[in-house]
Amino acid sequence: MPDIIQLLPDSVANQIAAGEVIQRPASVVKELMENSMDAGSSRITVIVKDAGKTLINIVDDGCGMSETDARLSFERHSTSKIQSAADLFAIRTMGFRGEALASIAAIAEVEMQTRRQEDEVGTHIEIKASEVVSQKPVSCKPGTTVKVKNLFYNVPARRKFLKTDSTELKHILTEFQRVALAQPETEFSFHHNNTEILHLPPANIRQRIMHLFGKNINQQLIETDTQTGVVNISGYIGKPGLAKKSPGEQFFFVNNRFMKHPYFNKAVQQAYEKILPPGSIPSYFIYFEADPSSIDINIHPTKTEIKFENERAIWQILNASVKQALGKFNVVPSIDFDTQGLIDIPVAGRDNELKPPDIPVNHDYNPFEQDSKYGGSTGYRKKEKERYDNWEQLYKDFHQDPEKGSSTPMEPEADTEKASQGELFDDSVCLPTLMQLKNRYILAPVKSGVMMIHQRRAHERILFEKYSEAAKSGSAVAQQNLYPVTIEFNSADFALMSGMLDDLANMGFDIRDFGRNTLVVYGSPAGSGKSDPAEVLERFLQEYKNSGTNIKEGAREKLALSLAKASAITEKALSREEMQEIIDKLFACNMPNFSPDGKPVISILSLDELEKKFR
Ligand code: ADP
Ligand code: MG
Repeated sequence: MPDIIQLLPDSVANQIAAGEVIQRPASVVKELMENSMDAGSSRITVIVKDAGKTLINIVDDGCGMSETDARLSFERHSTSKIQSAADLFAIRTMGFRGEALASIAAIAEVEMQTRRQEDEVGTHIEIKASEVVSQKPVSCKPGTTVKVKNLFYNVPARRKFLKTDSTELKHILTEFQRVALAQPETEFSFHHNNTEILHLPPANIRQRIMHLFGKNINQQLIETDTQTGVVNISGYIGKPGLAKKSPGEQFFFVNNRFMKHPYFNKAVQQAYEKILPPGSIPSYFIYFEADPSSIDINIHPTKTEIKFENERAIWQILNASVKQALGKFNVVPSIDFDTQGLIDIPVAGRDNELKPPDIPVNHDYNPFEQDSKYGGSTGYRKKEKERYDNWEQLYKDFHQDPEKGSSTPMEPEADTEKASQGELFDDSVCLPTLMQLKNRYILAPVKSGVMMIHQRRAHERILFEKYSEAAKSGSAVAQQNLYPVTIEFNSADFALMSGMLDDLANMGFDIRDFGRNTLVVYGSPAGSGKSDPAEVLERFLQEYKNSGTNIKEGAREKLALSLAKASAITEKALSREEMQEIIDKLFACNMPNFSPDGKPVISILSLDELEKKFR
């Protein structure tokens, strides 16, 4: 029997390889744009006809190729970017496999025109189904132009699988976006069927995002920047308002290359968990800088899935930096309270860094002296003081006298001091009008319209942060009940409760084990919306058991959340002072905008919307 193994002709081998690299017109756009980037271009034009099915034409002003290189570039495994296996660990270019041009030439009609700066004439090559049809000198500008016509003309099965023009165009734009975001300092333009649909001037990352997604995205971006020995992470994450129900604006880049990374994506998602309703996908534009030897780009033919050496560590760093960025933004919600034009809360998240409050302080001020002077009950004064402290947080930049232009703390000169404190506290602390609706919502006028606060969720947020903090520091002090309350549990619940007594003690419960499935509650945390400890603990158990799977943070967080939900006020008539206190405490929270399980707490009916209703 004769030997039966044969070597495949190059044209067939290339076609098979093409199947991996080139799935659709968008893959061609990606590969050609990446080649132009690698050639050091500063301006790249992408011209597409019929969603790339008829023509894909990329023009760059990069380094160009010599006559020999132009011919060689279409051979499989021809690349100028690596020479040895060792180079694989120091890759800074987009391409390196030397497959793209060979693959494209196997399944389309390709024309290339290229010239190096130093050469007088350029080279024009035509290739069809891997065969060189013509090669001749040509006079042209430095740089490279590649035209890919009639993609898959010789692979009918593939051509048939192409989707509608609008779908294919969407894929192309996705690839275009990724390259454009990876390289904001490069100028790009994009034409479809003779119309320029995008023009991106050289920019920084933030501007590039705006050019691609519209100016309005600007206020929705929070900057993040974390430098560590393992990796540097920078870029922007979207405020919760930018989250969508479907994926689309999730971008990771490593060393200026777009990558998909499902594991890191989880790190970001997880950071948003408490502030986004389930099913919402946050937007992000995150750039990693890592030593090329610590990543492996080689694992996927299209090079979008990348393996990192320290994935676990980087997961933690990423998760923490996103949380930190979100925290920063949430410290000050973007609301302007309408207090006779006195106050303008700085909107965090744009370029203004949060500064510590700039409020004139009398360092000799002694709250206890004050208390006795006013003869009031210490408890009340203390509560008031706490409230003021919270408000100060909100008014950071406000209380600077522009006339004096000075932010240095005033000398404790009795009279001025009094006056300025008075101005801040008595006139501007309290919102002029607070109204309660259906015992469920608190309404207040703010500069931009009417602010509506979901009472129960606000209280849940306040208690959640308080209990979480207390669980960590063990700082809460139990408030003794008027009389001890005895609760009997079934044995399973009793076992569950017994295991949590220490943590509950940290959060302000004084509960003792009485044996025979019975606990006695001597004291409860202050600030609960419910006065009956038995009711609170029963609801707590219920919440705790229900919350089972959706809380990953750990036992304490789960405990704090369950307890917050069990203790928060539900429908209840509130006095003006109580409403004020809720607002004060809410805005002293790290994340006032969302309940601990991610639901909105604050909503603003804007003046515009109001006006519309009267049209
Ligand atoms: P790779 O990018 O993996 O090296 P390609 O098949 O995409 O492989 O390209 C082969 C070679 O052709 C590149 O290594 C580069 O030297 C050259 N080349 C391709 N496109 C361009 C371009 N636009 N400008 C200059 N050189 C190019
Ligand atoms: Mg390439």
